[in-house]
Amino acid sequence: MDCLFCKIIAGEIPSAKVYEDETVYVFKDIAPIAPVHYLLIPKTHISGASALDEGNADVVAHIFTVAAKIAKEEKLDGGFRIITNCGDDAGQTVKHLHFHLLAGKQMGWSAESGV
Ligand code: AMP
Ligand code: ZN
Repeated sequence: MDCLFCKIIAGEIPSAKVYEDETVYVFKDIAPIAPVHYLLIPKTHISGASALDEGNADVVAHIFTVAAKIAKEEKLDGGFRIITNCGDDAGQTVKHLHFHLLAGKQMGWSAESGV
């Protein structure tokens, strides 16, 4: 499958790894929009949030648990934001489910930028 994030998981494309376990991989976003900008992805290919169902959604709870663990370890005490873009209107550019973990600055809020 021609999927950028599957290739990153397989080690075919280099990435700055932050965390890894059996089902989840976390790495630094190549174009950060906040001082902390990580991508949390399931190791199984799921095309996006709209492809979640009862059979594959357990990994989402695990990803949020991993995010909380990273936040604790990296002392993101000011808070953090988790975003997933789904589909073209939301600006999803990589069609492998991923959650942006953003932190390290005061963030505003708008549907346009998210940050
Ligand atoms: P989205 O626009 O929500 O689909 O997010 C895709 C994210 O992947 C963007 O924030 C990109 O900067 C990031 N990205 C694209 N290619 C790479 C790469 N090779 N390594 C790390 N992050 C990447
Ligand atoms: Zn993939």
